[in-house]
Amino acid sequence: MTDGTHLIRPEVQNLPTYNAGLSLERFACLYGTPCRAKLDSNENPYGPSERVIAAIRSSAAGVAFYPDAGNFILRKSIGKKVNLAEDRIVIGNGSEDLIGTIYRAILQPGDKVITICPSFGLHEIGALAFGAQVQKLTLEDDWRFPVERLCNSLKDAPKILIFSSPSNPAGSAITQSEFEYLTSSIGPEMLFVFDEAYFEFLTGDVRFDAYKWLEGCDFPWVSLRTLSKAYGLAGARIGYALCSDARLADALMKTRNPFGVNALAVAAAIEALGDDDHMTNSVERITRERERIRDHMVTREFEVAPSHANFLFFNTGRKATDFAEELRHQGVLIKAWLEEPYLDWARVTVGLPEQNDAFLTGLDHVSDQL
Ligand SMILES: *Cc1c(COP(=O)(O)O)cnc(C)c1O
Repeated sequence: MTDGTHLIRPEVQNLPTYNAGLSLERFACLYGTPCRAKLDSNENPYGPSERVIAAIRSSAAGVAFYPDAGNFILRKSIGKKVNLAEDRIVIGNGSEDLIGTIYRAILQPGDKVITICPSFGLHEIGALAFGAQVQKLTLEDDWRFPVERLCNSLKDAPKILIFSSPSNPAGSAITQSEFEYLTSSIGPEMLFVFDEAYFEFLTGDVRFDAYKWLEGCDFPWVSLRTLSKAYGLAGARIGYALCSDARLADALMKTRNPFGVNALAVAAAIEALGDDDHMTNSVERITRERERIRDHMVTREFEVAPSHANFLFFNTGRKATDFAEELRHQGVLIKAWLEEPYLDWARVTVGLPEQNDAFLTGLDHVSDQL
């Protein structure tokens, strides 16, 4: 045998492939037509501001040199923004990179990881790669977070509890009082990872600064945030972790790739985090469009989960991969969910108004054929 497969760790051989969205290039190759609405990866169609693009351009002149491995200036500016010392902040090549970084620092074979389902695939896949056992608790029937069941599951001595709020893909979010109740059951023998990829979209009783509450808690925690969603920088790859203490952050600095975050992304992040007006503006437009799409879908009798983010999760009424495939032929790209028991469900990202119209037209077209 010379193909190398005998060398691959069994955990990795059995690992599912991440259900990543299709790039525009791949779409055009596969369907022979350009994609009219790329609504499969929760990207922000408004992108970053002109100032951010200018910052990337001017940092391009410095690419002959390695970036600062300590990301000192960016950590300092995030620290100032959230009022935490910079030695408790870690920058990653996207927050997905930080999930791997955390797992590398913490997980050993046989460790237990608890998460919520339906879920962001990398929370699970990354843990399986280390030989951890992953237990997934479903959201409640009304899409609320399963707070009671989560508290009970903590009795099984998990090493990590990780989930995102708002949930990707469901879109529902944990309320502040549910969050406080849940975290009062967590003990110091485990790590709590709270993935806040869609934090900037939150409003009402689900909008709260989790890290401020966690500051008063007596267990290790990490809060993950990203520039990929509300800040429109998915292609730049940059996210950050706020950590319960500097020693935990220091461990993460050791398990990440020292130069994993490139200089252009750092320049973009510094500029973007300094201009929340642009971000809030796009969040408002996206939120309005989200409600318009939802209203239309509900009128067409689709079951749609409540959403606090830039996407909607809905029951396609049949195998979601078939449904998504038909939409692709209309030039519309959405994400069919590939996780039991949600195989009839799909997630659509809120795009520009005309892209959302293309989705709604495609939706009507496909459902009229049923
Ligand atoms: C998009 C997303 C991320 C990853 O974002 P990065 O682009 O890697 O920063 C992390 N968690 C959840 C729940 C997401 O939806």
